[in-house]
Amino acid sequence: MAKILTESPIKEQEICIQCGLCCDGTLFGHAVLQKGERGNLPEKIEQQYGNEGEAEFFTLPCAYFEGKCTIYDKKKAVVCSAFRCQLLKTFAQGDVSQQDAVKIVTDALKFKVEIYELYKQIFGVDFKLSFRELLNEMGKMTEPPAQKTKELALLKAKCNIYETLLIKNFKSIKTFEAMIDSTVE
Ligand code: SF4
Ligand code: SF4
Repeated sequence: MAKILTESPIKEQEICIQCGLCCDGTLFGHAVLQKGERGNLPEKIEQQYGNEGEAEFFTLPCAYFEGKCTIYDKKKAVVCSAFRCQLLKTFAQGDVSQQDAVKIVTDALKFKVEIYELYKQIFGVDFKLSFRELLNEMGKMTEPPAQKTKELALLKAKCNIYETLLIKNFKSIKTFEAMIDSTVE
């Protein structure tokens, strides 16, 4: 079994500190827990505990995320220290420079701001939940306000493009290839 790496190299931490997309509900709706972790987790993570059969997790966005992890130097869940997204793996392999990795992160954050601004323009209120929750809301929206049809189509298109970029840059190559295969069938 692969050894779980629990401390990120400093250069990876410098990328993560500007990001947080794996904590704030942009990339994932939940984070997996190891068996036996429940009961020994930070209080707010315990409150967000869930399970499905044998699988245990806590829901995201994480309540400790406020622009960055607010318990960074304290005991967290194993996944918090062990998780490395595809961008970090690609960086660790030397296939992307630190400067380019940071640019990918900042571009992703900017794109998300644009999406939330467009939502506000359309609906006149801030969308206060995570990107995954926004995707869910878009999926449920069957009857848009008639005068907003074009704007809503643009918002949906931007959400789809954003999701594709997230998968390409932050998820596994396999996930990205599977997504491409399913769209060209
Ligand atoms: S998504 Fe990747 S780069 Fe961003 S905080 Fe998570 S592990 Fe770090
Ligand atoms: S505890 Fe910190 S690292 Fe873990 S999910 Fe929450 S914000 Fe992210």
